[in-house]
Amino acid sequence: MHATDIHLRYEQVKKRIEAACAKSRRDPRDVRVVAVTKYATRETTEAALQAGIGHIGESRVQDAVPKREAVGDQGTWHFIGHLQSNKVKEILPYFSYVHSLDRLSLAKEIQKRAHMQGRTVQCMVQLNISGEKTKHGLAPDDVLGFLDAIRDLDAVRIRGLMTMAPHVDDPEESRDVFRELKDWRTVLQRKDLPHVQADHLSMGMSNDFDVAVEEGATFVRLGSILVGRERLNQKEGL
Ligand SMILES: *Cc1c(COP(=O)(O)O)cnc(C)c1O
Repeated sequence: MHATDIHLRYEQVKKRIEAACAKSRRDPRDVRVVAVTKYATRETTEAALQAGIGHIGESRVQDAVPKREAVGDQGTWHFIGHLQSNKVKEILPYFSYVHSLDRLSLAKEIQKRAHMQGRTVQCMVQLNISGEKTKHGLAPDDVLGFLDAIRDLDAVRIRGLMTMAPHVDDPEESRDVFRELKDWRTVLQRKDLPHVQADHLSMGMSNDFDVAVEEGATFVRLGSILVGRERLNQKEGL
């Protein structure tokens, strides 16, 4: 896909983000778009960067690492998918953010590898708000215990929370999930833990990002709508 196609799609996405921000009295500059390129080629990923999308999201280690090596040092890379502990060392040199921190063993491995490299890793704690068994993420009630358990892992920088809403036809049905994630962020902000900076909410995908932005998303993770194969869709106003 060409940068001009992606640029056009990105402009439409930005308009929708602005509209959602206007509804909810938010500043659109507080919402960052992560282009999810897990199904996209290296060329399309480079085109997304050329189109001005500075954040790239990947979810599979075996595809992400060669792509990141080929693209080189452009953009900020986010690992958004389920992450096995034994893959941490492969992705860390290339990724600034991990959106899918959901267990202590993973936090310890990130700590170990990041510490060896003399750096920190920006992490979102993934919560399974909907409780679906097929979804990864901590049960929300476990988040405070988890944060306590990682308090001494100084290379793991907690920046906020991430969730995946259930797949539904009507994005309105996901509103409560997004609201609940935001409520948990408020809980963390009120606790004011010294090792937790809970400024981000990573929520919203192609089918539900308008609602996620209305409810406070600071990172929306957009794949198909930005870099998917389908042609621009008149029905959706694209
Ligand atoms: C694939 C993926 C996305 C993007 O999904 P789209 O529906 O294509 O926008 C977002 N977040 C995660 C964790 C993903 O795996």
